[in-house]
Amino acid sequence: MISAETTSVMAPLNLPWRPVNDAVLPQLGPLFATPTAPTALPAPHWVARNEPLRMDLGLTCSFWTHPDALEALAGNLVLPGSTPYASVYSGHQFGQWAGQLGDGRALNLGDLDTPLGPQTLQLKGAGPTPYSRRGDGRAVLRSSIREYLASEAMHGLGVATTRALCVTGSPGFVRREEVETAAVVTRVAPSFVRFGHFEHFASNGQSDELKALADLVVAKYMPHLDDVQGPARYTSLLQTITHSTAALMAQWQAVGFCHGVMNTDNMSVLGLTLDYGPFQFLDAFDPSHICNHSDHQGRYAYARQPQVAYWNLFCLGQALMPLIDEQAPALAALESYKEAFPDALDARMRAKLGLQTAAEGDRALVESLLKVMHQDRVDYTVFWRRLSQAVGESATMAHAFEPVRDLFLHREVFDAWLLQYQSRLEADRLTADTAQGLSQELAHHSRSARSLSMLKVNPKFILRNHLGELAIRQAKTGDFSMVQDLCDVLQHPFDEHPAFETWAGLAPEWASSIEISCSS
Ligand code: AMP
Ligand code: MG
Repeated sequence: MISAETTSVMAPLNLPWRPVNDAVLPQLGPLFATPTAPTALPAPHWVARNEPLRMDLGLTCSFWTHPDALEALAGNLVLPGSTPYASVYSGHQFGQWAGQLGDGRALNLGDLDTPLGPQTLQLKGAGPTPYSRRGDGRAVLRSSIREYLASEAMHGLGVATTRALCVTGSPGFVRREEVETAAVVTRVAPSFVRFGHFEHFASNGQSDELKALADLVVAKYMPHLDDVQGPARYTSLLQTITHSTAALMAQWQAVGFCHGVMNTDNMSVLGLTLDYGPFQFLDAFDPSHICNHSDHQGRYAYARQPQVAYWNLFCLGQALMPLIDEQAPALAALESYKEAFPDALDARMRAKLGLQTAAEGDRALVESLLKVMHQDRVDYTVFWRRLSQAVGESATMAHAFEPVRDLFLHREVFDAWLLQYQSRLEADRLTADTAQGLSQELAHHSRSARSLSMLKVNPKFILRNHLGELAIRQAKTGDFSMVQDLCDVLQHPFDEHPAFETWAGLAPEWASSIEISCSS
């Protein structure tokens, strides 16, 4: 007879895995990826669950409550249809060739078929792999929460990024500068292929594997290049990656994001922000800001990021040379960065200024603004948000720009800039109105429309270091409510969130003493 107990046993959690040979790296065989089982995480618990992403992935509403979900995403259970693997890559770190690296603490569970298209599910911190070198394959709670919040904040801002589905925590210990507790982040992306994957096979002289990897990346992610044959296919691949990287750099610079460790092994071939370590969103505007405490030379300072990306693209170009043969087309593909990046950045900065049209002096207008913002250490995010509001109110309030002006010490320099900006706005309005055939009566309407468009690109909420720090401190006491609330707010950074108004304020004094290094 079947007892009531046995009938109530839940069916195993079945996810919509694609056949394993559909996932890029394992399809290429053992030289690319090594099947690796996760190491169990003792007594796991949920730290954070990303409900919007769960829905975007088409996972059922009972997903979180299924007991297998927690166990599988902590690395304690391999779900049916999943074959976890770690991949090998190499790379340049801080400008030097670092040799073989690889997924030292990342395990790919496989690809899921989702409404977003195929997505790789990856556990970060699920134990040692063949590429862990001297590392323990683990991640600490602190860095896992930072990665979770940062991925979702970037996504909310419209910046291309890997996503984070959840964080699981454990009372199990991990030794860093001090003893901390372990956690696992489940990361999600169409692909985790890095520049370093290509560098790996190129540096080993494995041209066949290099070609196989390039062909698979093209087939899976760049179908528009499918018909291109011969060396031109790999030049086009380089050009495509150059353009998506340029677009990403423009996004980072425009939102004031500093990555901190732009090594070639942390660069995505899809132009996604990848591997959140000592990243930081700028508080006061400072082009020379270094967010990584271990970056003594400032190689990855905020203002250097676009140039570093270009350098990294050259490493990728070098790696692709066995497939491209001739230097000239490879150089031409790389050179296209010199236009693609400034064009993308100009477009982003114009949108932040509320300009619908392009004019010759726009770049100079931005540069003179950033110069005085740097001089006066003006908060980057607060400035743009206040400017967006002032533009909407300037028709009805004589002193609409006062709250913006208040942010500056050199008021006369700001006033001079504001005059230039206002005349540029007027010219933009006339050009745009003429183009759209708008009448004078609609001028006020167009002003508030301009303000609204600015409020959609100039966020109110960013993941300031001190906010992440406060959420982490609470989480260490077992209270994960701030992680959840912060994530909810950061997923909609352009909206008002009256209950969390203080999170939109300036960073407190103590924020400048937070030190973030590579240790995670
Ligand atoms: P990152 O600086 O986090 O990009 O890591 C650089 C390399 O070190 C990558 O190959 C990582 O997988 C590896 N790594 C970082 N932390 C650990 C760890 N705790 N255990 C094993 N490998 C690690
Ligand atoms: Mg990395």
